[in-house]
Amino acid sequence: MHRRAFLTATAAAAATAATLTSANAVTERPNGETGVPLTPRPPLPLGPLPGSRYPDPHIESLDKRFKGSAGTGAVERIATGFRWAEGPVYFPAGRFLLFSDIPNNRIMRLSEDDNHLSVFRQPSMNSNGNTIDREGRLVTCEHGGRRVTRTELDGSITIIADKYNGKKLNAPNDVAVAANGTIWFTDPGYGIKGDYEGLMEPFEQEKKNVFRVDPKTGDIKVVVDDFVMPNGIAFSPDEKKLYVIDTGLTEGPDNPAHIRVFDVDIDAGTVSNGKVFADNFSPGFTDGMRCDTDGNVWCSMGWADPKEDGVRCYAPDGTLIGKIHVPETVANLTFGGMRRNRLYICGSTSLYACYTSARGALKP
Ligand code: MG
Repeated sequence: MHRRAFLTATAAAAATAATLTSANAVTERPNGETGVPLTPRPPLPLGPLPGSRYPDPHIESLDKRFKGSAGTGAVERIATGFRWAEGPVYFPAGRFLLFSDIPNNRIMRLSEDDNHLSVFRQPSMNSNGNTIDREGRLVTCEHGGRRVTRTELDGSITIIADKYNGKKLNAPNDVAVAANGTIWFTDPGYGIKGDYEGLMEPFEQEKKNVFRVDPKTGDIKVVVDDFVMPNGIAFSPDEKKLYVIDTGLTEGPDNPAHIRVFDVDIDAGTVSNGKVFADNFSPGFTDGMRCDTDGNVWCSMGWADPKEDGVRCYAPDGTLIGKIHVPETVANLTFGGMRRNRLYICGSTSLYACYTSARGALKP
């Protein structure tokens, strides 16, 4: 070997060794664990639920303001075989629904035209809550990644937030995007409490915060810090109210299972006048919610009395005006369809849907 080439090769080998030494000094986590899909035996039947007859008794009106039923329709099971479905979000441009199957470490995609089901992303870093921003981009909370990400229109992934005050987030759970582009999310940390819905790791944030991020500047701030376990999050249609669920009940019977409401200033990133909006969930609880264009709050219900499993709808004044009964614990829901009048419901191992007379708020 020519002397110069020998010296170059030696230098390169030294650099490689240095790189390896450096790399060996850091232990990287796996890039998300991959679960084993649930194959129900026998499969839960798809189609209208047993006992459906128009008007569907699964849709229970308690007040004339409730627009749960379109009349000539019924609650249907449209997909099944998940371990824990959560975080549904609808993409009108493609007429498909995405939702997380958290323990299976995947995001599923259901095409609305023929209910075709496929895997959108795996591993998903044990994704949980999803939403869509005004530019049509997917925004996702990841348990495994302990971060909030945005999937760009070219498919690349941008990290929106993964730390606060130099410390890792706990495990972001659910997210909403305001009209000014700011991203608001909850960080209770369920995803690092075990190895099933994420990866068990120590908490670094002292509190279970609700955060607001300005993606233009990267600025992240705490909006509220006094929740036991902040979970579902949604704006009212006029974005003057912010609803946040507390699922603190999972941490002990003396903790809350309720929805709080705040006056919110989306530009200042501040909330005020917080109070309990709905609180009769215990011993079960609600996990996720969406508003319709009338300002009604549609939320999930489950974990306790099976007769209460499903969806509840609350008027803006906090009155319970209707229920939708589903034969599994429900975690989350969203409005979809080209008229935003199709309610998609993530219920444990299955995805349910029904047409309503309501329309989802344009600001999810
Ligand atoms: Mg949640």
